[in-house]
Amino acid sequence: MLKSASRAGHRPLQALSLGRPYTRHSPIPKERVHIRHSRQFTSSSTLLRPDGERPVQETSNQGQKQQSAGSNYGLIASAFGAALALASLGGYYVGAGKQQQPAVLTTSTTPLKDMQPPQHDTSSENIKAATAEFVEIVGEDNVMSEKEAVETYATSDWSSYTPKKTEVAAVVVSPSTTEEVSRIMKVCHRRRLPVTAYAGGTSLEGHFAPTRGGVCIDFANMNQILKLHKDDLDVVVQPAVQWELLNDELSKDGLFFPPDPGPGAMIGGMVGTGCSGTNAYAHGTMRDWVVSLTIVLADGTVIKTRQRPRKSSAGYDLTRAFIGNEGTLGLVTEATLKLAIKPNNESVAVAAFPTIHSAAACVSDIVKEGVQVAAVELMDDVQMKIVNMGGASARTWDEAPTLFFKFAGTPDAVKEQVKIVQKLVKKANSKSFDFARNAEEINALWSARKVALWSVFEMRQDPSDHFWTTDVAVPISRLADIIEETKDDIRKSGLVGGIVGHVGDGNFHSKFPSVQETFQVQALTDLKAFLLFSEKEKRTAEGLVHRMVKRAVEMEGTVTGEHGVGMIKRDYLAHELGESTVDAMRRMKQAFDPLCLLNCDKVVRVQQPKPGEVSEW
Ligand SMILES: Cc1cc2nc3c(=O)[nH]c(=O)nc-3n(C[C@H](O)[C@H](O)[C@H](O)COP(=O)(O)OP(=O)(O)OC[C@H]3O[C@@H](n4cnc5c(N)ncnc54)[C@H](O)[C@@H]3O)c2cc1C
Repeated sequence: MLKSASRAGHRPLQALSLGRPYTRHSPIPKERVHIRHSRQFTSSSTLLRPDGERPVQETSNQGQKQQSAGSNYGLIASAFGAALALASLGGYYVGAGKQQQPAVLTTSTTPLKDMQPPQHDTSSENIKAATAEFVEIVGEDNVMSEKEAVETYATSDWSSYTPKKTEVAAVVVSPSTTEEVSRIMKVCHRRRLPVTAYAGGTSLEGHFAPTRGGVCIDFANMNQILKLHKDDLDVVVQPAVQWELLNDELSKDGLFFPPDPGPGAMIGGMVGTGCSGTNAYAHGTMRDWVVSLTIVLADGTVIKTRQRPRKSSAGYDLTRAFIGNEGTLGLVTEATLKLAIKPNNESVAVAAFPTIHSAAACVSDIVKEGVQVAAVELMDDVQMKIVNMGGASARTWDEAPTLFFKFAGTPDAVKEQVKIVQKLVKKANSKSFDFARNAEEINALWSARKVALWSVFEMRQDPSDHFWTTDVAVPISRLADIIEETKDDIRKSGLVGGIVGHVGDGNFHSKFPSVQETFQVQALTDLKAFLLFSEKEKRTAEGLVHRMVKRAVEMEGTVTGEHGVGMIKRDYLAHELGESTVDAMRRMKQAFDPLCLLNCDKVVRVQQPKPGEVSEW
């Protein structure tokens, strides 16, 4: 083990009184657990298991193997294919609590109308009995059931989703190993208990709201960096390793892990949302930096998606299937991550523009010119004004649309990049161009971008005021249009709202000592709106977000560039991708999690909405 990150280090949001207190439960009386035996073959997550899996998989999957062997299904298929085949060939039915013969499915997708509501058992007797089993697995100190403490796992001050009173777990369990997670899932599977995974708790759209109650698995104890392979430029970590702490550790060896979402986010949650951040322009998203995952499936089966080579064309790409799954297909208990060489030279420049259009045109020119900028961030005039009002930045800014550039590389390369960008900024009629000459100036210039979100948050007039940060992404040619239209909409609504974006599009060629690798970064035009509103203004804020999403889809964009759909944007998926694509995703969910135990209700609906629950498009 290289490092055992401290709890305090793991909960920075707590310092901002956004995290949950670490109250532990009072001892739970142990009771004799009555294990109900039932035929479960139709509700398992996999079929036969190939040989040669890791020892933990061997142990954890033994029960599963017996279960599979006892089933009527002689199909051999690998991972994802097996899962889909299972669903298609009749191994699936929803509501498996009822003992019934599985129907033979012949179709490739599952429309919502064909679903039966999931059958969970969250009765207090079942929870009590399960809790006793959890205590057996992880020990008393790692099981918590006090209402007040458990409620803090349902939402955060950042979340745009307000959970209903019932949407809270009954018990929070904190495992330390893959095997413990597997054993916990076996209990939940046998007892039909819904499960929500919790990592850093920084996701924004209600991702970890326990809509079905049941069990929350808090991964906080699984915070170890297990193995650093310096020569191979990869690292094996547990899911509660925080990206900033990982980078602190890696910097000692001149390495870094590029995805940079919210402060306090952890690898398990970052896989869950398929996050990115300011480094995405040059380095891509979480999808580009995960080599392999160890996953505990809904029935407790443990799978590993790949070995450690940086590329492989062996079988389905299960790693990517689990990235962005919001904890609905399986639980990440270990991740092998690619690493980059930490640039030994960095600089920052800031340019203000007369209009959003001129700022966007400048980004477009930089992209076309192929300039290797490390990051380009955009903030609109309102956001710059909010930063000034907040007073947390190192200087007072021109309240105009502003681009923040980061440069990285050798001193000569950085100089060259700055020169080209300065020329392009001038061509776009910029009002100013400031370039940092030393570390102090770098911090001063980047400080406005860093405090952007906090500054909006600080403007709350009342503790009950809400804060909503939401994102969409569009092709780069539509960037200026979506910003202009959204700004206009916010202005008319009377709400306080700033616009911030990770913008740009580029090619990045990184040369590693042992591995030569080139990858192309996607169009990055992720646009965030930070909205502040009172309870009375909630409908207005919802309308704004709805129209922003609609605008993005109409511009051939996406409803979320990096935050994930959570509870808020789930119903927009069909507008972006089409009903059939969502139906295919629903089939995938069924295949991996037939009982809908894992973060049920996220990504795809499994039950018809109530009247009025879904906004008119
Ligand atoms: C101030 C601030 C700034 C932010 N900036 C960005 C940004 O620039 N870019 C960006 O992409 N995001 C940003 N975010 C959002 C957030 O940081 C990311 O979504 C992040 O990836 C969430 O990680 P987490 O550890 O907090 O996950 P959580 O919120 O705990 O969980 C996220 C999802 O993953 C699931 N999950 C958690 N652990 C596991 C596991 N072990 N296995 C399977 N599923 C799991 C959860 O059930 C949930 O569905 C920001 C948030 C804040 C508060």
